[in-house]
Formats: sequence, C-alpha cells, structure tokens
Amino acid sequence: MNLLCQLKKQLPLSLGIAIRKEFLYLNGLFFRGNQFECRLCGHQYRKFLAGGFDLPVINELQIIGGGRRPSTICPGCHSNDRERLLHYYFEQNPAVFTKKDILHIAPEPALGRYLQKYAKSYIGGVKYYEGFYYPPNVQLLDVLALPFPENHFDLIVCNHVLEHIEEDLEAMKALYKVLKPSGTAILQVPWSPLLQQTKEDFSITLPAEREKYFGQFDHVRVYGQDYPKRLESVGFKVSKVYPKQLSINEAALKSLAINPKECIFIAEK
Ligand SMILES: [Zn+2]
Repeated sequence: MNLLCQLKKQLPLSLGIAIRKEFLYLNGLFFRGNQFECRLCGHQYRKFLAGGFDLPVINELQIIGGGRRPSTICPGCHSNDRERLLHYYFEQNPAVFTKKDILHIAPEPALGRYLQKYAKSYIGGVKYYEGFYYPPNVQLLDVLALPFPENHFDLIVCNHVLEHIEEDLEAMKALYKVLKPSGTAILQVPWSPLLQQTKEDFSITLPAEREKYFGQFDHVRVYGQDYPKRLESVGFKVSKVYPKQLSINEAALKSLAINPKECIFIAEK
C-alpha cells in the first residue's frame, strides 16, 4: 500500500471527503482560464489534467476509453472525457433521465451529482476499493447480486465495470432484469475497434499479466467489435451514438476535451 493510501486510512471518512472537496475547489480556481470548458461544474479552465495509462497494449489495439490522454480530467470536479460526453448526450435527451428511477453502478461523482439533481430516485452503488472516497450515499453493490425487483429502473448507467467481471454475460442479464421495459442502459467499456472478437483468457490472473494483455491490472478482457452482440445476446437492443451524431462541433469537441472516436453504447429493453 502506498503512503497516500496509508494516510487516507488514518483519516475519518468525513474529514477525507471535506479535504478532497476543498482541494478540488482550490485546484479548480488555480486552473481557471478559457481553453477548456466543463459543463458538469460550469467553469472554464486554462488546462485539463492528464489521465489514463500509457501501456503498449492500449496503443497497439487503439483501445477507446483507455490510454493516456494529456488533457482529460477537469481540475474543478474531476470529470473525465466520458462523463462530459454522456452529459452532452443527456442534455440532448432529457426524457431519458428526468424524473426517472436511476441506478448508477460505480458512479462517476460529477455525472452522479448531475443525474441525481433531476432524478425521481437515484441509487449509486459500487464494490468498494480500499483507498477511494465515495460520496456518503453510495452503497455497496454487487452487479451479480443486485437486490432490486425486476423491471425497476428507467435508466441504468454502468461504465467501465463489465471488463472487470469474468461472468460478464451474467452481469448483463442482471442489469437487463432490473431495467424496466423500454428503459435505457448506458454501458460504456474500453474496447478495441481493431479486434473483431473480444479478447479474453481467464487463465491470465496475475496483475502484471492482465496489464500486459488487457491494459489494466484488474481487467479480464478487451472487448472488440462484438461487444454490442454480447449485449444483444441477453436481450438488449443496442445502438451506438458517436459525438458527431450529437452535433458536437469541432470547437466544442476540443474545449470539452471529448474523444471523437468514443461512441455511447445505448442498450434498450
Ligand atoms: Zn468540471
């Protein structure tokens, strides 16, 4: 465990959250400018921060939703490029989330706050990882054992989770089950447009090997072009929406630091 994790463990949770909030506020002030824009926190910045990992497999497979991006994290609210893309989509499609029952798995904090503001009900849940701070309303949830009735949610947002789960089809079935008929699930994953078939090998278990083959120490696969077919195999109707279909012009793509190659996987029941 690194020093930062050890320090975090010593702090009461409420104090840790307060320090983080204060840090983000000051960090945001420091980076104010007019080069980048974050509509999730409503401010403009001279710089977005770098994020993601620079690993050979990510570059070789041109994995979308992964890899080192020099300008991707908002210094004020820590939203990433994916969150800002989804925010743009939601702003254009308010009927998907306004006054709806929403389940947000592994909730991205800035996107979660936004959805919560307009939801009828909002549940954020995650499998806890040591060393991370979660907002107080985030509960412990296992996608493979969701404690909700069938046909319960209008919207499910579950990003960058399925690539961690060996039984991903079971997880997809579980999400499908709790989604209402005609409900929508946003299920982003890192994926490679160069792979026709998803690459997975469950005999690879060592963190260093998983990093080498799948691009992160705890990923069990890299999805390929067949990702929508996997979702369809459990019943979802899937469409892909690219930023250009949302009419984001070049200037906005740049200022919002959205990846033009990242599509939104929209899975409907
Ligand atoms: Zn922001």
